[in-house]
Amino acid sequence: MPLLKGKHPPSRLHELVKAPENLPSSVERRESWDAKRPATVYLTPEVLPDGTPCTAATVILRTKGCTWWWKSGCTFCGYFNDVRDDITAGDLFSQWDEAKRRTNDFEGCQMVKVYTSGTFFEDREIPVEWQEAILRETHEKGLHLVVEAQAHLCKDEKLSWLASIQPNCTVAIGLEAYDDEVLKFHVNKGFNLKTWHKAVQRLRKHNFGVKTYLLFKPPFMSEGDALFHTTRWVKEVAQLSDEVSVNPMNIQKKTIVDRLHRNKEYRPPWLWSLVKMIQDSHEEISHLKCRVIVHPTAGGKIRGSHNCGACDREVVAAIERYSVSADLDEFSGLDCKCRSTWLDEVSSDMSMPIQFGSGMPRRGDPTRYMRAP
Ligand code: SF4
Ligand SMILES: [Zn+2]
Repeated sequence: MPLLKGKHPPSRLHELVKAPENLPSSVERRESWDAKRPATVYLTPEVLPDGTPCTAATVILRTKGCTWWWKSGCTFCGYFNDVRDDITAGDLFSQWDEAKRRTNDFEGCQMVKVYTSGTFFEDREIPVEWQEAILRETHEKGLHLVVEAQAHLCKDEKLSWLASIQPNCTVAIGLEAYDDEVLKFHVNKGFNLKTWHKAVQRLRKHNFGVKTYLLFKPPFMSEGDALFHTTRWVKEVAQLSDEVSVNPMNIQKKTIVDRLHRNKEYRPPWLWSLVKMIQDSHEEISHLKCRVIVHPTAGGKIRGSHNCGACDREVVAAIERYSVSADLDEFSGLDCKCRSTWLDEVSSDMSMPIQFGSGMPRRGDPTRYMRAP
């Protein structure tokens, strides 16, 4: 679907987000998932709210997805590829049993992250009896529970109910950007900063941990702008959160970002930008209690944050180490020939008004320009 349809008015962002969802291939993919098995279960080293290192189990469930997606959806979110429309409470209980079987009943774990591709405590997405069972069971097992939610769904009444069953809980909100214009026009997030601030206040009132996700380089943004803005956002958001997780864009299938990327109008962030963001924000956040982690999903791959190919592995490893040690020395001695290309791009982005940025993979498809009158 073209952005501008000749005589017709321009397509709305909403239509662009939703278009690929109903393709026969998307429907077929959704229906192929086994409703009785979770999408993923894995163990990772983690840190409890009091700073103690621990083992965490992450359980990603196959669900009906997110109410915001049903209405509209975020521009970068590809979760619609992974959901099923007909998931029942019985299916979720089977998936939970399977997660316990795979982890030997969470043996050796002190934390469990239960991710539902939406809001854990939204009753239209997740049957309330299942929510209650998971809250009770994780509390009885002494597990710290981490769930995800949208800011406007963190309502007082629901949070009190949550706290009455499982008080040992962190709620992670995908804020993505600390900027209302970016939330509206780049991310299509569905809530604004005022709503996020209120949600954080309510979570604090109920003594929940606050985790915030930021997205490094939303669509329609240059590399230079992404670096400049995210460095600022991390400093702001870290003041109010227990943990900030900066997620560099990784391109998910059939999203708007995927289309821009195919059309050579979007490149996932450079790993050098992530290093620079960490270096520029470190001092201001190091005295806070907030932990800042940067995890380049698909780092070094073409659809994830990457450099030239030669240095990617080393730079990804340094960023991962920093997320654990919070020590800038992880980056000392790190260099590559591609660093000057990255630096030129960022300087040009900041000095020239080029819409999507000045980098080579963001100038669009040359044949389109050749054909333009
Ligand atoms: S709120 Fe979360 S799950 Fe829902 S569309 Fe946005 S990113 Fe996807
Ligand atoms: Zn390189």
